[in-house]
Amino acid sequence: MLSDRIQSLSPSLTIAISSLARDLKAEGKDVLSFSAGEPDFGTPQKIKDEAIKAINDGFTQYTAVPGIPELLKAVAGKLKRENGLEYAPSDIIVSNGAKQSLFNLFQAVINPGDEVIIPAPYWVTYPELVIYSEGKPVIIDTDEKSGFKITAEQLKNAITPKTKMIVLTSPSNPTGSVYSKEELESLAEVLKGTDIIVASDEMYEKLVYGIDFVATASISEDMYQRTVTINGLSKSVAMTGWRFGYLASPNKALIGAMNNLQSQSTSNINSITQKAAVVALNGEVDAEIEEMRQAFEERAIEAVKLFNEIDGLSVLKPDGAFYLFVNTKEISNDSIEFCKELLQKTGVAVVPGIGFGAEGYFRFSFATDIETIREGISRIKKFVESKK
Ligand code: PLP
Repeated sequence: MLSDRIQSLSPSLTIAISSLARDLKAEGKDVLSFSAGEPDFGTPQKIKDEAIKAINDGFTQYTAVPGIPELLKAVAGKLKRENGLEYAPSDIIVSNGAKQSLFNLFQAVINPGDEVIIPAPYWVTYPELVIYSEGKPVIIDTDEKSGFKITAEQLKNAITPKTKMIVLTSPSNPTGSVYSKEELESLAEVLKGTDIIVASDEMYEKLVYGIDFVATASISEDMYQRTVTINGLSKSVAMTGWRFGYLASPNKALIGAMNNLQSQSTSNINSITQKAAVVALNGEVDAEIEEMRQAFEERAIEAVKLFNEIDGLSVLKPDGAFYLFVNTKEISNDSIEFCKELLQKTGVAVVPGIGFGAEGYFRFSFATDIETIREGISRIKKFVESKK
């Protein structure tokens, strides 16, 4: 009964771990979860107030498919003010999270057999969406030696006549790596003269630690033309449940095609979220965003220090996002087994590296209070010591 297409989607590898965590919790076991991909903070009050006002004002009907004019203007204003990028409001589509922006993009450009280059470790959704769009993921592996970033040489070697797109995620989920201007320039050099689209996922832009974020499209006119900039408010403004993401591209045909797809599938996003998002995009909660960023940075520093004191584990300091990608290769190269046993024996839930395309690692989210982080890492330490 099911289509071949839907059967091409893999169930989430993390499901096994989260259902085990749920079972253990139900048995009354003290489970500490470091698997969340969302901030532990609440949405800033000003944004909530704006949403309540929108409801009371009766702003509850369908809107234009890509978003209301004041919202598209606010996104364009943000991209200009913070990234130096000139987009017209008509170059922007707002969707139900950056996830839908990516879905729209992949569906709009990938033909059967088209290759999409994805650097690993990657965010789990990319290869699944490429396969669902009948494309072929081409994975470039990276490790600590390059700070989990691809080099120009690796990119050059991965390109074939079938390459349609490359996905760049900076800051990265799951490794926290951030591409510098020079690194992006060297990748841009390789892409020059090709028709390859760059999908630049900049979801964690605001969460950087002691390093400048550089927007991929800002590298050169050539990169601006080929890049689709994807971003949202889920991570940086603690708005995961509101479902707000956007993409921007100067390519009118591409934007038109995605507008068609969205108009026939989900239409506009929630009208109330749109009003609330304007407040976040206009810089009215920048102080609250900075407070959250600082809290994440303090946790990152502490967690990295504690992990690197554990004999048998190692981790790089993340330059952004709220994850550590912890290397377990001295202890185990089977991340599912490692994470299952860790959970069963200590009640600590982390995500197996294999889900991100890299064996011998786990992802530890530090979107949790510092006391819980300390307790969690202390339990991991005891577990690792028992394995040595
Ligand atoms: N991109 C990256 C790299 C992410 O980690 C996530 C969420 O985990 C998303 C996009 C999707 O965010 P949302 O759909 O909530 O905007």
